[in-house]
Amino acid sequence: MTHTLPKLPYSPEALEPHISKKTIEYHYGKHHMTYVKKLNDLIPGTPFEESSLDEIVIKADGGVFNNGAQVWNHTFYWEGFSPNGGGEPEGKLKEAIEAKFGSFEKFKEEFTGAATTLFGSGWTWLVRNQDGKLEIVKTGNAGNPLRDGKTPLLTCDMWEHAFYLDYQNRKPEYLAAFWKIVDWNKVAGRL
Ligand code: MN
Repeated sequence: MTHTLPKLPYSPEALEPHISKKTIEYHYGKHHMTYVKKLNDLIPGTPFEESSLDEIVIKADGGVFNNGAQVWNHTFYWEGFSPNGGGEPEGKLKEAIEAKFGSFEKFKEEFTGAATTLFGSGWTWLVRNQDGKLEIVKTGNAGNPLRDGKTPLLTCDMWEHAFYLDYQNRKPEYLAAFWKIVDWNKVAGRL
């Protein structure tokens, strides 16, 4: 089966000024697309010719895993944003965040701290663990919490290509911008 680059759920300039059109053109149009192309190049002759992307993320290793998980992670990242995003979660998601972290503000602080201290390239996630509780986890490189049986709810790409054009080394500014575009309805739907 051939994997494809999913359409962005908004136009390339829709997240400005938080994420620039130029970043989207490179990050989605080149990085994300290249992971899709490489995945399709690597799959023939492996046990993953008919596998879904989820199966690849959970079971593959080496280049098939690296490119497959990067496709999955980027699609999930883009889908977590909306030009009308930001604000605060409501309902069950709000309750779950308050139960685990004390308050939405404390959750944001903890997630921001995890993201800005991640060493090297990787991802910071809000997940639901096997006990149904929320957790913040970091993964290096293409890592994905599905491999540990956890359900991803929200992710922040901490590879430099995600923020360097807009914020250079100022990771806290990238995180401040990130909170202004998170689509909490989408995150709640993943819970
Ligand atoms: Mn990326």
